[in-house]
Amino acid sequence: MNTLNDRLHILQTTIPADVRIVAAGKTRSAEAIHAALDAGIREVGHNYVQEARTQIDQLGREACTWHFIGHLQRNKARLAASLFDMIQTVDSLRLAQALDRACADLERVLPILIEVNSARETQKAGVAPDEVSNLVTEIAQLRHLRIEGLMTMGPAVAAPDELRPYFQETKALFDHLVTQRIPGTKLHTLSMGMSTSFNVAIEEGATMVRLGTVLFGPRRS
Ligand SMILES: *Cc1c(COP(=O)(O)O)cnc(C)c1O
Repeated sequence: MNTLNDRLHILQTTIPADVRIVAAGKTRSAEAIHAALDAGIREVGHNYVQEARTQIDQLGREACTWHFIGHLQRNKARLAASLFDMIQTVDSLRLAQALDRACADLERVLPILIEVNSARETQKAGVAPDEVSNLVTEIAQLRHLRIEGLMTMGPAVAAPDELRPYFQETKALFDHLVTQRIPGTKLHTLSMGMSTSFNVAIEEGATMVRLGTVLFGPRRS
């Protein structure tokens, strides 16, 4: 009995078919990711560029769609641009410019999401909700990036339901951006919700959830 298989099939009975599942791969072995791909996972997210690089070398660039979901330092932009199919955590014009330059050299267009600091926590990554529209307008002019939507984490909370207002605000921002019809954007993805919060996130409009623990089991830290 493959427990990962079972877990995924149970998840697929509650997660609508049009909501994309990104397997959060941090700390997982290549074997674990391989098993997830065998079970039907098509998209894998990583938080660390080096960890992802090792795993992409092991499993292959074409094995699945590779997402970057961690905090990206500008000095890793070039490597990240060569490794990932989507970067979900763009939160500044300077980072976007570094990625755009790298993608120009690679002659590719890179799909990205803008990370929203929906909880407005000063120490956290992401752009403040009030600044999202301006940042999107600026980044949309970079020809080698394509903004496909928004991503948010939300704050650490005791109960998943407490994340609802942060997901609602991010969804409202997303809907507002769609109505702005900013040239150079192609907005269809709202990435929010993790193992404990994906149900709430989907109720509030997530089109993509990022799942680690609920898929692979607890992480050994
Ligand atoms: C680890 C991680 C996840 C998945 O976390 P789980 O609680 O294990 O599902 C999702 N998103 C990001 C950005 C992460 O770092």
